[in-house]
Amino acid sequence: MGIVRGLLLRGSQSPWLREHAPGFWFVRRTATRFMPGETVDEALAAARQLQAHGIGTLLTYLGENISEAAEAERVTEHYLTVLDRIRTGGLHAELSVKLTQLGVDVSSSTCYANLTRIIERAGKASVVWIDMESSRHTDITLELYRRLRRVYSNVAVCAQAYLFRTAQDIAALRPYDPSIRLVKGAYKEAPKIALPRKKDVDENYFSLARTLLRESLRQTGARVAIATHDPRLIRRVTDLAAALGVKKDQYEFQMLYGIQRLELVRLVREGYQARVLIAYGAQWFPWFMRRLAERPANAWLLLRNLI
Ligand SMILES: Cc1cc2nc3c(=O)[nH]c(=O)nc-3n(C[C@H](O)[C@H](O)[C@H](O)COP(=O)(O)OP(=O)(O)OC[C@H]3O[C@@H](n4cnc5c(N)ncnc54)[C@H](O)[C@@H]3O)c2cc1C
Repeated sequence: MGIVRGLLLRGSQSPWLREHAPGFWFVRRTATRFMPGETVDEALAAARQLQAHGIGTLLTYLGENISEAAEAERVTEHYLTVLDRIRTGGLHAELSVKLTQLGVDVSSSTCYANLTRIIERAGKASVVWIDMESSRHTDITLELYRRLRRVYSNVAVCAQAYLFRTAQDIAALRPYDPSIRLVKGAYKEAPKIALPRKKDVDENYFSLARTLLRESLRQTGARVAIATHDPRLIRRVTDLAAALGVKKDQYEFQMLYGIQRLELVRLVREGYQARVLIAYGAQWFPWFMRRLAERPANAWLLLRNLI
């Protein structure tokens, strides 16, 4: 792992920075590159604009590592109102949620109960995407996903290509006809559990994408989301899908707000399905630091804004 990336990821976990850094104007200003604003109104307005360009969205209310049931309950209530607003606004938006924000560290039953409320309110046509957080939560995330998937069809989970275990995890999920979002992985993980070299992560990503695209040919209704901004990988995946006979509407691309917009627009123009994940909320600091870590050159943005 690069030194700058390691430092930024360590910074994302610092309670002191989490409390103080968002108070600095140049940090706030840099964060606006990755989010349309802190409020749900700003997120919904951005979703509407993207929809006008044929791009769907995923909304995520920032916050993680909640330790009190009451706070997780508040987040759940918030998501329920957002789902109502999505429906009344006629938006092609879905939710992307973090289990540590829905109380998984309080108890798995609290988290399960919160998730079922959200999934039921979303309704069959709207998938609720479960993010994959650090490796401390991989087992519980997959366990809760399997429990939910036995009951609901509109729930999806994220898989991280940097983890050695992910190929096996995906194979084990096969009986559940899972909808999966494939990402490279954004957390600080030890080399004994995660591929340390970016080149190897990219290769594993491609290999896992191949597995998921092949699965999509079974036409189970499961969704395959290729969530990356990497133009080279995107090109390899579209070429592979064409070679396998996977149609453009059998999988989708997902990107983060503010990153690789032109690449996304190009994909939509060429007939691919695409969604942008829009994050909002006041608790943006750890999420923002992970965005900086993904591209350490982003740290220069901070400096530039300071100057
Ligand atoms: C929709 C979506 C959901 C995600 N959910 C999760 C999740 O649940 N769990 C998880 O661990 N990770 C998640 N991620 C993050 C993911 O793991 C990667 O950290 C992130 O996508 C960067 O990797 P990349 O695939 O874009 O490839 P990279 O090789 O990191 O980047 C490829 C190119 O994209 C551009 N780029 C990438 N990131 C940035 C950035 N931050 N700023 C500016 N340019 C950038 C650069 O041009 C870079 O050269 C998600 C990503 C997306 C798009």
